[in-house]
Amino acid sequence: MEKKYVYLFNEGNADMRDLLGGKGANLAEMSNLGMPVPNGFTITTEACNKYYEDGEKISDEIQSQIFKYLDLLEKETGKKFADPENPLLVSVRSGARASMPGMMDTILNLGINDEVADAIAEKSGNPRYAYDSYRRFIQMFSDVVKGLSKKRFEEIIDEIKAEKGITEDLDLDADDMKKLVQLFKEFYQENMNEEFPTDPKKQMMEAVEAVFKSWNNERAIYYRRQNDIPSSWGTAVNVQMMVFGNRGNDCGTGVAFSRNPATGENKLYGEFLMNAQGEDVVAGVRTPNRIEQLAEISPEAYEQFKKICNTLEHHYKNMQDMEFTIEHGKLYMLQTRNGKRTAQAALKVACDMVDEGLLTPEEALMTVEANQLDALLHPMFDPEELKKAQPVTAALPASPGAACGQIVFSADEAIEEVAKGKKVILVRLETSPEDIQGMAAAEGILTVRGGMTSHAAVVARGMGECCVSGAGDISIAADESSFTVNGKTFNRGDWLSLDGSTGKVYGQAIKTIPAEISGYFERFMKWADESRRLQIRTNADTPRDAAQAVKFGAEGIGLVRTEHMFFDGDKIKSIREMILAKTNEQMENALKKIEPLQQEDFEGIYEAMEGRPVTIRYLDPPLHEFLPHKPEEVAELANEMGMGVEELQAKVDSLREVNPMMGHRGSRLDVSYPGIARMQTEAVIRAALNVNKKHPEWNVEPEIMLPLIGDLKELKFVKKLVTETADELIAHEGSNMKYHVGSMIEVPRAALKAGELATEAEFFSFGTNDLTQLTFGFSRDDAGSFLPAYYSAKIYEQDPFAKLDQEGVGELIQIAAQRGRATRPNLHLGVCGEHGGDPSSIEFVDGIGLDYVSCSPYRVPIARLAAAQAAIKHRK
Ligand code: ADP
Ligand code: MG
Ligand code: MG
Repeated sequence: MEKKYVYLFNEGNADMRDLLGGKGANLAEMSNLGMPVPNGFTITTEACNKYYEDGEKISDEIQSQIFKYLDLLEKETGKKFADPENPLLVSVRSGARASMPGMMDTILNLGINDEVADAIAEKSGNPRYAYDSYRRFIQMFSDVVKGLSKKRFEEIIDEIKAEKGITEDLDLDADDMKKLVQLFKEFYQENMNEEFPTDPKKQMMEAVEAVFKSWNNERAIYYRRQNDIPSSWGTAVNVQMMVFGNRGNDCGTGVAFSRNPATGENKLYGEFLMNAQGEDVVAGVRTPNRIEQLAEISPEAYEQFKKICNTLEHHYKNMQDMEFTIEHGKLYMLQTRNGKRTAQAALKVACDMVDEGLLTPEEALMTVEANQLDALLHPMFDPEELKKAQPVTAALPASPGAACGQIVFSADEAIEEVAKGKKVILVRLETSPEDIQGMAAAEGILTVRGGMTSHAAVVARGMGECCVSGAGDISIAADESSFTVNGKTFNRGDWLSLDGSTGKVYGQAIKTIPAEISGYFERFMKWADESRRLQIRTNADTPRDAAQAVKFGAEGIGLVRTEHMFFDGDKIKSIREMILAKTNEQMENALKKIEPLQQEDFEGIYEAMEGRPVTIRYLDPPLHEFLPHKPEEVAELANEMGMGVEELQAKVDSLREVNPMMGHRGSRLDVSYPGIARMQTEAVIRAALNVNKKHPEWNVEPEIMLPLIGDLKELKFVKKLVTETADELIAHEGSNMKYHVGSMIEVPRAALKAGELATEAEFFSFGTNDLTQLTFGFSRDDAGSFLPAYYSAKIYEQDPFAKLDQEGVGELIQIAAQRGRATRPNLHLGVCGEHGGDPSSIEFVDGIGLDYVSCSPYRVPIARLAAAQAAIKHRK
């Protein structure tokens, strides 16, 4: 049988979204509900995909189906294409599965030509409406189908207005419209070297093709990547009989939300314009009226519209965003979809709808996009001030929030200036672990290099601090006293504002307003916690981060990166002593100095977590990260250490690696220097013993996690260092404290050998950053430079460091989980990479049955909601 590529509205319904697109499915649904929807049909998303498969050609099969449905539409409406007696005009509208507002194209009034326009003018006795519709069609067709500049058309309109001394579109009369048609057609002919097409069927096929093509325009591709929409979905095309809001003063067009999308208030919120068409309201050609005013102008239509809004809200069980047109007092519905709303509004609407009995708490949970919660947790710019500001550049929105401060170029400077009471923005080429304190002191961080998982991005997200990364347009002066961007120069001390949620950088101060978590938040999150299966832990390296995460609902720590503490205060000195030790004895001495400092750190974290589980990862980065690299710093350190500069330089050089991410790091350090693992074990165990003495009720059981393990013998080797040290300390205390040793799974070999590793490891934690890096063979610090080429070539659609690659990396995780659990059924499994805070990755993790995810403190609420949504979906 022939495949069906076209559906009449009354053949579809809301469940056919994948095939008909959101717009088409909802038009069908509204028709089925008996609402006044102009007749039409939908060309499926499969037809779009077929178009691309066939080398950007609409097949004869699809074309003949389209014409068949056009015949049906003519029968339904009693109108005919190009028939002067009763001409059919249609809109050709894009509509993908997910709503992509403004990303793709739509053409109105298609089917018009000279003859038809004259006939409409005569029969309606309203020539202005006839030629207004015609000139609009020429404009849209030229832009959408032929790519002619919209601007020139606007200029021609402005010229006519200027000639007549008028400013309003409404003051253009029938003759003006006729003249516009003439001028537009001339412009078209000059540029296209052909006459404006008069055959409606030809117009239509070109329009349909243009809509298919708009699926792959640049803005659509960009939007898809931002919103995780695969290019394989394609767009549907809706062909719908026109109704006319531009037919006189008892006609109009408008848009409305069933509730206020900014505040969530349960009150119709919308705008309309009389004697207007299509996007006039949104495009701002005139100042629109508030929806309430429709009650006076067109009371019947208003009452009917209110009823329909109410019906639609109940039907879809979600706030609706609707488009309508009124023709001679009669209302037509042209679109409905779930309305986009602010995070504040989303929570209020969800709670209200539960109170109204419209939704169960589980259903309410599904109405809020998890990522949106972020906006509630960070300061934001005063919206009024932001509207007036112009960005100087834009880069990656690496860590959300808004920051405003004076420019500094180093971490030390940041600390100094903040101590004087100033607010600063730290601008760096890139950041390194030594910058942590300066980063914490700054309001926000701007880096020239680096992607979403660069050091700056990861650390900033952990601290809940605003960060924009990878701003390649910026060049910092060699003496670090200024930077230039797009022709402008900014000096130390100049004001800068960063929007970490959009990646925009403003060369001025913009007022920020603090985050506010309302009562709705708590109520809503309680429902989320009741619905989820996954436990939510946090990645935290300091008591401060840990406490913040607990406030946001973290149930434990899934990752303490011990090295982050090393940069603090005097600790770095002892670390360097250890690295530079020439004899075992020197090494042991240095480790002895570090141990109590680490112990103190761990005690702080145990205290902050009040008995919740804490997983501590042993030293991970290559040692050279702790040594200075600039000649003056090397000289300074040599002096401090009582070493020769050359000797120190030689040591620094000897530690330098060609490929540090695959170098001497993780448990490899413990294999070379067993003293490090012993020292860290002493610190962990002593800290836990002490805290348990003070708070026996907490009953802390340390979880020790060994990084970058690849082989069972390696795991056994390091584990033995841990157990020997720990058992002795515990026995010495006469305690019966338990502790657990587990392995990170971040080397593909570990995933494959998981069955063996589980004989020794009590838990696995998937370090998905490294696992992604090693599975793809992409360095996460360098992938940003070549991934864009992969996006344009449609090889990869997503940054695998931001969205877990479920097919490749995901398969390794599944293999490891299965093999691990086959050996040890109660093996505890979690994810502690950046993906632990990403909703689609969390859904995957829930689906394969892991026990927990761990993410940065500020992503904890998002993870709680995402885990609830995943569980609800998977229960269905
Ligand atoms: P978008 O997806 O960008 O909103 P639409 O396809 O919804 O684009 O159409 C753009 C505008 O044209 C909307 O205001 C819509 O209401 C209006 N419109 C679309 N089809 C018709 C029609 N058949 N009759 C009257 N107006 C229409
Ligand atoms: Mg629309
Ligand atoms: Mg790692």
